[in-house]
Amino acid sequence: MSKETLGFQAEVKQLLQLMIHSLYSNKEIFLRELISNASDACDKLRFEAIHHGDLYEGDGDLNIKLAFDKEARTITLSDNGIGMSRDEVIANIGTIARSGTKEFFSKLTGDAQKDSHLIGQFGVGFYSAFIVADKVTLTTRRAGAPADQAVRWESGGEGDFTLEEVSKASRGTEIVLHLKEGEDEFLDDWRLRGIIRKYSDHISLPILMAKQPTYDNDGNVVPAEGLEPVNQANALWTRNKSDITDEQYKEFYKHVAHDFDEPLAWSHARIEGRQEYTELLFIPKRAPFDLYERDRRNGIKLYVKRVFIMEDAEKLMPQYLRFVRGVIDSADLPLNVSREILQASREVETIKSGCVKKVLGVLEDLAENKPEDYAVFWEQFGKVLKEGTGEDFANKERIAKLLRFASTLADTEAQTVTLADYIGRMKEGQDKIYYITGDTFAAAQHSPHLEIFRKKGIEVLLLADRVDEWLVSSLTEFDGKQLQSVAKGELDLSAFEDEAEKQQQEAAAAELADVIEKFKTTLGDKVKDVRVTHRLTDSPACLVVDNFDMSANLERLLKQAGQ
Ligand code: ADP
Ligand code: MG
Repeated sequence: MSKETLGFQAEVKQLLQLMIHSLYSNKEIFLRELISNASDACDKLRFEAIHHGDLYEGDGDLNIKLAFDKEARTITLSDNGIGMSRDEVIANIGTIARSGTKEFFSKLTGDAQKDSHLIGQFGVGFYSAFIVADKVTLTTRRAGAPADQAVRWESGGEGDFTLEEVSKASRGTEIVLHLKEGEDEFLDDWRLRGIIRKYSDHISLPILMAKQPTYDNDGNVVPAEGLEPVNQANALWTRNKSDITDEQYKEFYKHVAHDFDEPLAWSHARIEGRQEYTELLFIPKRAPFDLYERDRRNGIKLYVKRVFIMEDAEKLMPQYLRFVRGVIDSADLPLNVSREILQASREVETIKSGCVKKVLGVLEDLAENKPEDYAVFWEQFGKVLKEGTGEDFANKERIAKLLRFASTLADTEAQTVTLADYIGRMKEGQDKIYYITGDTFAAAQHSPHLEIFRKKGIEVLLLADRVDEWLVSSLTEFDGKQLQSVAKGELDLSAFEDEAEKQQQEAAAAELADVIEKFKTTLGDKVKDVRVTHRLTDSPACLVVDNFDMSANLERLLKQAGQ
């Protein structure tokens, strides 16, 4: 097939533009991104080769090679991983096929400063090569494909790329960066080694570079032959905690999470017991753009005895912790474990529940010792964690303690109040945790149902996140105190009333008996009951639902959802 030219998807063009401008100050990360991809490609090959050993083509020594050519002004990175077919090249390098991408890009403002934060959420990846290169040539052959069925992709990072069929003797991917004018600093052995050690030391495969020449006793250069590894080349999670620096953990996170930002916190442990495994799990600092997409990326990579098994191992983390990223390496699962096996496996359940406990532990630690970090976490992922009270019965108490709410005390939208705080401030004689739900924060905050509570100085939690209706339907009590909607049922606030108030109310009820009868006959079947109420101080009337009925807000939500 002859050479053909294809256009980039509009979003790719945008991403390229944005990246080149906003990441220039941090341009050396292009190498980290390409090495990260090469490492993933080797992981994938090792996995496929479990069933198809011939994919190794007699070369099972997986590695990544980096070389540069001062004359040609190029850097070449190659791997002997899985490689890509022509279709895969088109799908992976030229389009962004993740759902939510369009909406995400429509949020871009054109303000480089703001947009560069958004890029972090999206992940920079392969295209970061264009920060330093004005032409990128990628030649790749999928493992198992014949030598003459390799593909060459080439682009100047503007609007389009070319594709052509070529021959490539060895499987895997080779990427040649033709450096832009002024980027010669990367044509330097010492500089490149420095970048690898800084960003890619955790990569478990050797990253090889040409051996450095040595000097003999007379000071003459003795050229060296062959290649040598620049990184430590063992899987980071298998090292002892004391041998790993925070920097290394952070770089490892960027690799597994495909994230540009640093993580907020992490947990690293080797567990021995019914199941033997190592977990290294991270809490991101920022929610990915597709946190609520159905086909979003999940964050857990599963390894068995250091062999990569699968990405997106969603069975290893419950939905409400879907923001967690990292690695679980099992010593006991079979190498041929499939998604179906994971689904039904008791071993996996054990690992999962152990990991959930670790993650909750990290969050508790943040909440306790780094409240500012916990506030960042809550802002980004609070709504997701709230799903947990309904999803994870066994850990309901722990999750409930991690929840944060807005309340009438501060009367602002900021969610900072814990249930324990609330209980600590309960009025004498108060035995319930009061809350109100609303479509919006303003609707909750200005609800007439709150009038009596404000008057009596009783704090009420203000719930306005979509998930809150589900939260209160699964979390009905905390620390022995019932959660009670102020908009439901008959409120018994008699503990807060004095004799005079009680008498006044009884008198009012007697006086209004006729009016109530009229209301009942007029409204007929439209209402269950009409009552004299003491919950209002300024408004003349309000609607309430029975304790066991759906709240008005939930009813609205379900109607919107077409139920
Ligand atoms: P990400 O790594 O987050 O998926 P990238 O932009 O870095 O995003 O890479 C896009 C995709 O291109 C990868 O998911 C992979 O499928 C493919 N790819 C990139 N580099 C390689 C490589 N060296 N070998 C095989 N596939 C690759
Ligand atoms: Mg990548």
